[in-house]
Amino acid sequence: MQQLANCRHCGGLFVKVHQPTCKKCQMEEEQWLKTIRTYLKEYEDTMVTQQMLMDNTKIPFKFLQSLIRSGRLKLSQFPHLEHFCERCQKPTQETRFCHSCVNELNGELSHYEEGKNDKVTLVREQDDNQSLTYTLKKNR
Ligand SMILES: [Zn+2]
Ligand SMILES: [Zn+2]
Repeated sequence: MQQLANCRHCGGLFVKVHQPTCKKCQMEEEQWLKTIRTYLKEYEDTMVTQQMLMDNTKIPFKFLQSLIRSGRLKLSQFPHLEHFCERCQKPTQETRFCHSCVNELNGELSHYEEGKNDKVTLVREQDDNQSLTYTLKKNR
């Protein structure tokens, strides 16, 4: 069965396969990825920031975020090319949550386990963004 979804970038309806964006935006994202990679190769400065990338390549913020979140733009070589934790909005090198949020989330989990006798499992899931999500599941 075909599943319709709204494209994350343009909001248009499309038939969802794996990607969170429509074909047109996906192609645009690929183009941006090439542009960014070329720029980073030429620039070879590990001090490059998101702002510099946006100023110099004109990549829209949403595409830049999407490339980082999907892991296609690797942050490891460019420590200043950070993006923001989805939970506390602090700059982080991780794809979704910063280290302290991951720790806090784990802390909440053990709290939960102490307080209740329900068994709790931390389940790793893949969302459309190909990144990992942690979900609490209660087993009764
Ligand atoms: Zn689109
Ligand atoms: Zn955080």
